[in-house]
Amino acid sequence: MEQDGGKITVTIVGGGLVGALSACFFAKRGHKVRLYEYREDIRTAEYARGRSINLAMSVRARAALAVVGLEGALVREHGIPMRARMIHSRNGERRAIPYGTSEQCIYSVGRKYLNEVLLTAAEKNPNVELYFQHKMVGGDLSKGEINVEVINSEGSKKQMMVKADLVIGADGAFSSVRKQLMKQPLFNYSQTYIEHGYMELCIPPKKSGDFAMEANYLHIWPRGNFMMIALPNQDCSWTVTLFMPFEQFKSLDTPQKLLDFFNHFYPDAVPLIGEDRLVKDFFESKPSPLVSVKCKPYHVGSSAIIIGDAAHAMVPFYGQGMNAGFEDCHIFDNLMTKHKNNLKKALEEFSDYRNPDAEAICNLAMYNYIEMRDLVNHPSFLLRKKFDMFAHWLMPNFWIPLYSSVTFSHMRYSLCIKNREWQDKVLHRSMYFLSFATILGISAVAYKCQDTILNIYTSMIRSAHQYF
Ligand SMILES: Cc1cc2nc3c(=O)[nH]c(=O)nc-3n(C[C@H](O)[C@H](O)[C@H](O)COP(=O)(O)OP(=O)(O)OC[C@H]3O[C@@H](n4cnc5c(N)ncnc54)[C@H](O)[C@@H]3O)c2cc1C
Repeated sequence: MEQDGGKITVTIVGGGLVGALSACFFAKRGHKVRLYEYREDIRTAEYARGRSINLAMSVRARAALAVVGLEGALVREHGIPMRARMIHSRNGERRAIPYGTSEQCIYSVGRKYLNEVLLTAAEKNPNVELYFQHKMVGGDLSKGEINVEVINSEGSKKQMMVKADLVIGADGAFSSVRKQLMKQPLFNYSQTYIEHGYMELCIPPKKSGDFAMEANYLHIWPRGNFMMIALPNQDCSWTVTLFMPFEQFKSLDTPQKLLDFFNHFYPDAVPLIGEDRLVKDFFESKPSPLVSVKCKPYHVGSSAIIIGDAAHAMVPFYGQGMNAGFEDCHIFDNLMTKHKNNLKKALEEFSDYRNPDAEAICNLAMYNYIEMRDLVNHPSFLLRKKFDMFAHWLMPNFWIPLYSSVTFSHMRYSLCIKNREWQDKVLHRSMYFLSFATILGISAVAYKCQDTILNIYTSMIRSAHQYF
């Protein structure tokens, strides 16, 4: 369907972070938007279910929020800057590893607050309608149709069909819209669960109401095969996330075993969390799984597309899932401008352009788990980090370290990997060249001083003869 310059109707499935932002983008263009969210409205719900209480936000998400005028409210006024990783060793020592230059930082933002602000901003537009407790259960995406199950206040369900020019699937890692795409020929899909799960705990504020640890850091307790991290919250508490193999979670089946484990691996965290709270929070929750999803293409003809976690769920170790999802909205918006609202062209280009980048960040996120839980303790990693920072300081536009390119630049994720591969090549070749030059230098000196060396050698042999 060609909508050259005209207004279209859009159905968005999912009112999480990406769906709500996508509604803001389409509303800004003047299109008619209907958003269907399975859960209750989190702005009024007594208890909001969901994952991670806070998230690390960096430039990709900020750029998208800036387009819809929300960057100030969400990041500069609400976000807590984190300038470095603070590494906690088992003996209680702490050491900071900066993320980038002194001006660069990532922000800790509350998921609920972010989602609420986005929904309210979307709803302010007269051309947006939000429907909660409406679950997409099927449909024919090639016709822009979805079937929605409505749950009324008495708990009874009814179904209806909704039709639009464009269906956007922003319904997360277990997307129902993606399930419909899977029925299309030539749709490729893979998912990987890692053997580690995660559980959220909490470090409360001090009695004085202050942060119990240095704020403005993302705290990490790397322990080889598992780790714990903590991000600051607005109320001066910390959301602590424990990542470890499910087997290990299972083995901690009594309060004593849990406390022994924590006192052994995270001794400085125990008094901060408090023994009673640790035991209560741990045994009241269950570890959640982590999945990585890759698929292609993201669209069906000119009538449907998936974005955010629905298209590329990733493990959370680069802090890029939401950033990438927000960048999807931004990129798609640019493509709508480029193709003058021609959906067929915009959808096709989105799939082709975005897929290599989405797969790249899924791969990088997997890699970063090893870096966070283990490599940060290795001297070779720290040496490389220092070299990268120095080279970046010397040549800011020429030598951009991998982490900085992903977190503080808009470089395509696939190019971030290529850039790192090129840097590795330059460093390896420089090492070879340096070793070769050193050997050459030593040989030249040896050649120049051969008489002296010969004299030393002869006198050594003579003195040796005296002993035999
Ligand atoms: C532990 C953890 C930590 C993370 N930390 C970070 C971080 O620091 N930085 C970062 O950038 N990212 C982070 N992420 C990733 C981030 O949470 C996701 O990338 C982001 O939430 C994706 O948003 P989304 O809107 O695509 O999906 P979701 O947030 O999953 O939202 C999908 C929405 O769709 C709704 N829905 C689902 N099915 C249906 C249906 N059939 N009908 C109607 N509605 C439906 C759901 O109820 C939900 O509201 C983290 C993830 C985890 C698990």
